[in-house]
Amino acid sequence: MEPDRDRNAPSSEGEESPAGGTHAAVLEIRCPSCRKTSAIPLPPPEVFDCPRCRCELATLARLRADADALLRQSRAHLLRGAHALALSDASSSWDLRHCRAAATLAFLAATLGGDAPEGVAWLRASRLPEA
Ligand SMILES: [Zn+2]
Repeated sequence: MEPDRDRNAPSSEGEESPAGGTHAAVLEIRCPSCRKTSAIPLPPPEVFDCPRCRCELATLARLRADADALLRQSRAHLLRGAHALALSDASSSWDLRHCRAAATLAFLAATLGGDAPEGVAWLRASRLPEA
């Protein structure tokens, strides 16, 4: 069996984050196949396999990172009163990953934006158990 460690090593050559800095943050991803939790560096590398079952996790990590970025944008829009943009980003995040935070932000954005029926629908979604 050949070691898989090099395959999961983050590639630092020639890569820069859009902000120009380095990220020490990691994303915890639970393998959908074997349920092992792995810490994946941010931004997610091109290739990352589950150390236990070798399931490909990089695509899932990128989706999670994109969903989290949309949540941060939604929060920022909400804080400055841009309810429609906050709702749009929270809804887009929800499309990538059903999580309580996205539904809660969408609920707040819809309700504060004056759309009570939409808010109620998101309130129901926000009560779902975490995925
Ligand atoms: Zn696995």
